[in-house]
Amino acid sequence: MSQKQTLSFQAEVAQLLHLVTHSLYSNKEIFLRELISNASDACDKLRFEALNNTGLYEDAPNLEVRVSFDREARTLTIADNGIGLSQQEAIDNLGTIAKSGTREFMSRLSGDQKADAQLIGQFGVGFYSGFIVADRITVESRRGGLPQEEGVRWTSVGAGDFEVEAMGRPERGTSVTLHLREDAADYLSTWKLKSIIGKYSDHIALPILMRKEEWKEGEEGKGGEMVLTEEWETVNQASALWTRSKKDISPQQYQEFYKQISHDHEGPLAWAHNRVEGSTEYTQLLYIPSHAPVDLWNRDKAAGVKLYVKRVFIMDDAEALLPTYLRFVKGVIDSSDLPLNVSRELLQESRDVKAIREGSTKRVLGMLEDLAKLEKDDGAPADDKGKYGKFYAEFGTVLKEGLGEDLGNRERLAKLLRFASTESDTVTVALADYKARMKEGQEAIYYITADTTAAARNSPQLEIFRKKGIEVLLMSDRVDEWALNYLHEFEGTPLQSVAKGAVDLGKMQDETEKKAAEGAAEAFKPVLEKLRDALKDKAQDVRVTSRLVDSPACLVVSDGGMSMQLARMLKQAGQKVPETRPVLEVNAEHALVKKLDGSPHFDDLAHILFDQALLAEGGLPDDPAAYVKRVNALLV
Ligand code: ADP
Repeated sequence: MSQKQTLSFQAEVAQLLHLVTHSLYSNKEIFLRELISNASDACDKLRFEALNNTGLYEDAPNLEVRVSFDREARTLTIADNGIGLSQQEAIDNLGTIAKSGTREFMSRLSGDQKADAQLIGQFGVGFYSGFIVADRITVESRRGGLPQEEGVRWTSVGAGDFEVEAMGRPERGTSVTLHLREDAADYLSTWKLKSIIGKYSDHIALPILMRKEEWKEGEEGKGGEMVLTEEWETVNQASALWTRSKKDISPQQYQEFYKQISHDHEGPLAWAHNRVEGSTEYTQLLYIPSHAPVDLWNRDKAAGVKLYVKRVFIMDDAEALLPTYLRFVKGVIDSSDLPLNVSRELLQESRDVKAIREGSTKRVLGMLEDLAKLEKDDGAPADDKGKYGKFYAEFGTVLKEGLGEDLGNRERLAKLLRFASTESDTVTVALADYKARMKEGQEAIYYITADTTAAARNSPQLEIFRKKGIEVLLMSDRVDEWALNYLHEFEGTPLQSVAKGAVDLGKMQDETEKKAAEGAAEAFKPVLEKLRDALKDKAQDVRVTSRLVDSPACLVVSDGGMSMQLARMLKQAGQKVPETRPVLEVNAEHALVKKLDGSPHFDDLAHILFDQALLAEGGLPDDPAAYVKRVNALLV
């Protein structure tokens, strides 16, 4: 690069800039947190690259951030001696948005300033937040290891474009100079800057330095003033938060640290901070967020734990440190045993990592159990009592994946599950609650899966259970069916789908009822034969059932078979599903079913019966037009 170039921002950046400058006015000061965080990341990167190339330290091995200002020029500068930017990196990293999350972010903007500002907090606009307070930003940088002539100066007024040019720069790293807007001049104050740093950046593991101020008496009786000296002092704690003793860390500091590492504007629901000793030594600081990120569903991406080795940052999103179903957990794990040059591949195989993962999983489950306990604790403040419900609403579905993924902790996980049921409109029923309410003689925990809770609640399959006052769990999460495959029993009581196999209410059905049902089935036999024949392409079998009270018919699948709901879902997702035909169960007491015997419209009625059963459980007839025709023929 020989000459000054003017380049355009990527369209998304321009959009983001507009938003930043227009909607973040309520919380301007966060720009400092963002820029210091970038500086700290740059130092982490240098330290990491220098593991294999100590030359990168040049003659400045002590990594630090310096915050300074010039009242006259109205500028504020945040300088670091981290990895720095090459000329190309300045163009790429400060001119485009690489992160896929940001696109997602842009699409979620509502136009409501307050809500959008919170969203920004969640995603962290980072560097661009400088434009909240500055009408021009100049970045000067040189990447560690590059010759002095290969420095770069980047300037922009935060509108459509930016300028870059080469510059000589002896010192490694980056300095970001904000030309403050007139109304942001109050940041030109040591006291103000120190208090913001104390609030947001105290735990940054690097020293943040500022010029010392001194009181200078005015001349000839005029008032004195604070003036800046040449001496620098450290204004933050400068030790990694997790390395400090628990008793020296306030709840506010834990929360600030969480916000920093998670880019979340809301505080966490809970955290655990422990030093684990024994054959593997590590420190864990793990947080449970209070709401789900937008990409929670992406099993490949999300993982929120940063790995440090002996306080050196190694990597973000170290997925090997926790099982995938706990990917919502944020935090830091600092190992004393892993080698500094550990790679993601190595992590997968390491025995130490295995121990860390087991220990951390137990810790997270313990935190969740504690939150769940508060739920039932009458003495707990309402806020605390509601925490588990909040957690479950956000992450319950992900937690269920653990039933299939983490066999060793299945029992603990089962206790953490919550469902809606015929006894509860909200998702608050624990399996233990259900067990405690089981009817005399009831031998199973009954559940039904459907596309929505309403569909589950109104399913014909529930009729006999409702009549007998037996509670049924209503499940409508996509993962339920799959997850329940892994949970056959809870504390010795089997789980039984009410839509699979024949109903067997066992001891809850009395002898006279059983006799009556058998008699009805016997009398109905000739009609059944005809039904089987008429529906042989649709139904695997047709039988008389005692599970229906008000409905004429319903569909069930064989025990261990895939529910029709799951089959539909998989088909929609483009997966191959083995073609199985359901069983049609009919209510021999129902007027419509009684009408079958000797009816001249037997065939039409049979098909209508089947298609209606399919409709009732959320499916669609194979040939909807034929269905309508048949119904209409009977209506006229
Ligand atoms: P984020 O830090 O979340 O990736 P930013 O918009 O804050 O997003 O920064 C964009 C990129 O610019 C960073 O990823 C980094 O590569 C680069 N960058 C920003 N500040 C610095 C800095 N002080 N030193 C080196 N690189 C930086």
